[in-house]
Amino acid sequence: MRSIAVINQKGGVGKTTTAVNLAASLADSGQRVCLIDLDPQAHASLHLGVTVPESVDSVYGVLTGRRALADIRQMVAEKFWLVPSHLDLAAAELELATEVGRETILSDCIAQDPEPFDILIVDCPPSLGILTLNALTAVGEVLLPLQPHFLALHGLSKLLQTVQVVSERLNPDLRLTGVVLCMFDAGTRLANEVANDVCAFFEQHRESSGPWCETDIFATRIRRNIRLAEAPSFGQSIFQYAPHSHGAEDYRRLAGELTARAGSSGQRVSSAA
Ligand code: ADP
Ligand code: MG
Repeated sequence: MRSIAVINQKGGVGKTTTAVNLAASLADSGQRVCLIDLDPQAHASLHLGVTVPESVDSVYGVLTGRRALADIRQMVAEKFWLVPSHLDLAAAELELATEVGRETILSDCIAQDPEPFDILIVDCPPSLGILTLNALTAVGEVLLPLQPHFLALHGLSKLLQTVQVVSERLNPDLRLTGVVLCMFDAGTRLANEVANDVCAFFEQHRESSGPWCETDIFATRIRRNIRLAEAPSFGQSIFQYAPHSHGAEDYRRLAGELTARAGSSGQRVSSAA
């Protein structure tokens, strides 16, 4: 099973929109997809029209050992399942702080999960705390959405350092599959300049041995598209809400590119790579 964490410690860069619509597109193409909402804000769950009542367990129940993934997983479309989140997950950050092996809880739960999926996608919160560490420990790949504004590269080193530390200490198979530029305004000079800066940043480190030395930006840019912003209020993916929009077109293309990268080698995150 392929597994991908969508991470960026910044909020509002397109993580949830990417996680939900990429998952939906992969499911549309016939793959069995499980999306885990690991953000206490539960935006991915809301985007897919799922609200977990106070009395019912969410992914929080899984991380605290009360439930298995299969107990709370819901089917949201054909071949598409969601492990929903709830605001109470915010407590996990503190509660797990003193727990031994706290970074591997999600990874252990996934290992015990009997359901065969083709692909698992984890939507992460806007931080590099214990929840994101659990995601990085549990998956094989990282997908990094960036919004092309002038602070796009700010904080990137910290993020990549975190990925490298996890790969060294907890998950040697982890690799950074790619960067996806979201909310891209092709007509603006700023967007194109930042895109070039991001390319240059990764190009510059291609020679080095850092964790991002073989990372590429996806050729697909996710254009700014109002339909993508509207879809969550209808509890629908872009393919249900506006299947012929630019947003649907871009995420379909991104899913194709991601699938094509499945077998590519040499993208391991390792200082020794
Ligand atoms: P994150 O999960 O990183 O916080 P979101 O995916 O929730 O970011 O996106 C932040 C906001 O921007 C949301 O309101 C979302 O609907 C909107 N948005 C995301 N991508 C696009 C896009 N390509 N075009 C227009 N709006 C977008
Ligand atoms: Mg989000």
